[in-house]
Amino acid sequence: MAIIKPVDESKIFIQDLPSWGNEEQHISILRLDAIHPIISGNKWYKLQYNLEAAIQQKCTGILTFGGAFSNHLIATAAAAQANNLSSIGMVRGMLDPTKDLNPVLQQCQNYGMKLVFLSREDYAQKEELPFLEKLNKKYPQYYIIPEGGANDAGRKGMQSLAQHIPPNCSHILLCVGSGTTFAGLRNVLPSHQHLLGFAPMKGGKYLTEEVKRHIQCPQDVHWEITDRFHFGGFGKTTDELNSFMQEFPKQYGFELDRVYTAKMMYGLKQMLFEKAFPSHAKILCIHTGGLTGN
Ligand SMILES: *Cc1c(COP(=O)(O)O)cnc(C)c1O
Repeated sequence: MAIIKPVDESKIFIQDLPSWGNEEQHISILRLDAIHPIISGNKWYKLQYNLEAAIQQKCTGILTFGGAFSNHLIATAAAAQANNLSSIGMVRGMLDPTKDLNPVLQQCQNYGMKLVFLSREDYAQKEELPFLEKLNKKYPQYYIIPEGGANDAGRKGMQSLAQHIPPNCSHILLCVGSGTTFAGLRNVLPSHQHLLGFAPMKGGKYLTEEVKRHIQCPQDVHWEITDRFHFGGFGKTTDELNSFMQEFPKQYGFELDRVYTAKMMYGLKQMLFEKAFPSHAKILCIHTGGLTGN
């Protein structure tokens, strides 16, 4: 049984960034943000096999978890609706009844997602068996996907992204949140390609351990995660990053998102300045979307 609506990969393209790097380097960006205005970037990939499993198991809906500004929640709401499944979003933190829903949660609701707000203490149990069993009892028709789509099906879904990566690229750069996209891709890329992950949070090096747990390929030699470019922490920004983000579309005709891709592109610029890449490097950045957050 196939899912009704898979990722529309025909929208994906590679855009050159000609003024970046030296004359012999080649810098380009894989525009996953072009896939869909809402379910952009890596999110639908991570959901694909999860949706398929839900339909195969005759579930009528998807239940998942996320923070109040989660791109994964919106993507799940929209992808579930496109596949005639209902959806429940377990949101971290209680709702302030005196305030309106933020635009992200409002969008989720517009896509038919039922929102359930959990205290931070309850949310912290979201991966524990007793908690999940309770949820299963309460919502027996729902297929449960962890926060960020971070499961085997999510990692497997990301593997099909590899077909869009030209074999002659030497370096592939992408943003890391849960590490699902990174691990999925690392498992299928040939060993001559270096994968460099940009963690947008303080102390993001911990993701190295997370990714290691899920590396299945024998050739896991060239990969690394840097947390140099966190700009104060997850979701935080600085004036410098803001002005970089504002100037960027004027030159290249597309936007970066505040949480992930702006930090990566800023980091790349800095690393090129530091001559951190070989002189003939062919660098492909992956634009993982996230523009709804802007
Ligand atoms: C969710 C997201 C990521 C992180 O992906 P993971 O698979 O969780 O590591 C990166 N970039 C953007 C724009 C995202 O929305």
